[in-house]
Amino acid sequence: MPLRYSSGNMYEGIWTLSLFGGQGSCGWCPWCFKDRYKTRSKHHFIEEDFNIDLSVGEPKTIFICEGTDICSGALSDQDITRILDHCHQYPRHTFWVQSKNPGRLLSFSGHGIWEHAYIGTTLESDLELGSQYMGYAPSRADRVMAMQTIAASGIKTYTTLEPLMKFSSTENFAAMVKQCHPEFVFIGRESMRRLELPEPFRYEVFALRAEIEKFTRVIMKENAQVWM
Ligand code: SF4
Repeated sequence: MPLRYSSGNMYEGIWTLSLFGGQGSCGWCPWCFKDRYKTRSKHHFIEEDFNIDLSVGEPKTIFICEGTDICSGALSDQDITRILDHCHQYPRHTFWVQSKNPGRLLSFSGHGIWEHAYIGTTLESDLELGSQYMGYAPSRADRVMAMQTIAASGIKTYTTLEPLMKFSSTENFAAMVKQCHPEFVFIGRESMRRLELPEPFRYEVFALRAEIEKFTRVIMKENAQVWM
């Protein structure tokens, strides 16, 4: 799947690269729409995307984690290093490296890519609502702890609240997001409606957005416009 411009349910206005993928290579989240794009084969590098010459064209923002989570158990440390090394060859571009297991990226915090890359993580809620909704990725508390350390090391971060689920209170959830020190925050909804999730009311999303905007920028994804 070649480099392409994002729209709709992914991040709008940036490019995506799928350097790795394969069915079952991650499998943490019950709502994962990415299965649709995964082949029957197990995790593998997508060499076609490694072969794209990124040295031409305008500087871009490129999301590299579309195929599967870069910190899933299917990728060895050597695999992750290959991906980061590859992107670091193109310092004109800004890369977004997103994981629900950001603690693992701490082992790579000395890599040069962070001069031109962000680490992002997902927080669906400040509550643990059960594996039937939230799957089996590391807990939100673990992600926040890791993001705090990552941000303290000087790496730029962002957070995405997607798919947004019920939260305990606007203040508590916003405080949790703030601990990640994100430069910007996305709010998104379960894209494909494949799973009935416990969602907040529209007025709660409004209030959450306003609370987070006290300390950083909030971007409502297209799939969350129904809440605006
Ligand atoms: S972490 Fe991402 S790729 Fe992995 S199952 Fe969840 S949504 Fe899908």
